[in-house]
Amino acid sequence: MNTVSDTLTSSDLDAADPLAGYRDRFLVPEHDPAHPLTAYLDGNSLGRPLAATADRLATFVRTEWGAGLIRSWDEQWMDEPTVLGDRLGEVVLGAGPGQVLVGDSTSVLLYKALRAALDHQQAVDPGRNEIVIDAGNFPTDRFIVEGIAAERGARLRWITPDPAAGVTSADLEQVLSGSTAVVLLSHVAYRSGYLADAAAITAQVKDSGALMVWDLCHSVGSVPLHLDDWGVDLAVGCTYKYLNGGPGSPALAYVRSGLQSSLRQPIWGWMGAADPFGMTDAYEPAGSIRRFITGTPPILAMQPLKDMVELIAEAGMDAVRAKSIALTEHAIRLCEERLVPLGARLASPRDPAWRGSHITVDHDHFAEVTTRLWGEGVIPDFRPPNGLRIGLSPLSTSFAELETGIDAIAAALAEME
Ligand SMILES: *Cc1c(COP(=O)(O)O)cnc(C)c1O
Repeated sequence: MNTVSDTLTSSDLDAADPLAGYRDRFLVPEHDPAHPLTAYLDGNSLGRPLAATADRLATFVRTEWGAGLIRSWDEQWMDEPTVLGDRLGEVVLGAGPGQVLVGDSTSVLLYKALRAALDHQQAVDPGRNEIVIDAGNFPTDRFIVEGIAAERGARLRWITPDPAAGVTSADLEQVLSGSTAVVLLSHVAYRSGYLADAAAITAQVKDSGALMVWDLCHSVGSVPLHLDDWGVDLAVGCTYKYLNGGPGSPALAYVRSGLQSSLRQPIWGWMGAADPFGMTDAYEPAGSIRRFITGTPPILAMQPLKDMVELIAEAGMDAVRAKSIALTEHAIRLCEERLVPLGARLASPRDPAWRGSHITVDHDHFAEVTTRLWGEGVIPDFRPPNGLRIGLSPLSTSFAELETGIDAIAAALAEME
């Protein structure tokens, strides 16, 4: 039996989309023969810039930097990592003030968060020396954890989830014990798009006496988060994916307020010290989330993020999630109709309750297909061994754009048969 939406075309869906108008706020690129653009389906790797961001950056150079010069540190830059962090907490993280910081890269913040969490656990109970992670996690997450295990003599407990899904409570039950110090999981799996049950898993991990660290790279800005309500201990996330902060924009870290004073991150620097301008002899960490700062924060690189946070605040995270689900549902329908008959297989959860804002489809020709499509301005991405990812950034992607992209994928596949 067809549901109503099965019969809706992409243009029907665009016409009925309450968020359709937000697409016009994104920068329309000038025509560039070397970079044609027909369908952008990779906003989950690098979000598109907002038109307001181009103006914001130019103004920033002329005013805050150009005119304010060093005075701008006193006037606003010193507090920018936490002011912006608080706004992210409010709009996208479900986090009260004083718990979120913007700075460093996701990889570096993961290192700081995990080292701080492991050291804390070991100080309380030296028998807790295991870090739990899954084999399907993003390489940097696995590498950081392996590095910390080597450095601190900790043991890794690997979960091996279904590659087309992700980590479940049942998987965790197999590995959690009185030896578990920390668990690191991705909220949305970078390959399959699987959305973990963060509330249930956080409670389960904490019941076992371990600390829970979430990687939010693929959920922040596309899936509503409730870090305070879920009781999350620490979390880290990217800002250049669904938060459109631009290439290499600084990451975010969340540290639950009740935990902050008992955590020490491993890269001590003057900017995270209690009195940065006291030029003190000894390192004394700041008494707030600022203790997770190391050196001078990347103020310039934080600017674009401000526009996207406000755009999401205007649209509302629940509406963003509703559109994200509508887009991934449409993507799956179109894939089943046009790609599966050509031999492709869906490698993402079918139930939207268990899915983030991208889907992955597998086919042995997808590496070649992706290279060819990029030249034509149709931009999904490829993840080995054979996965084509279709990322759907809810505020910048239209249903028609998605269909154009899938038709181009189908045409490229058909030609290779
Ligand atoms: C994108 C992504 C990263 C990126 O880390 P960087 O330090 O910004 O390069 C890390 N983890 C996950 C799960 C990601 O999706």
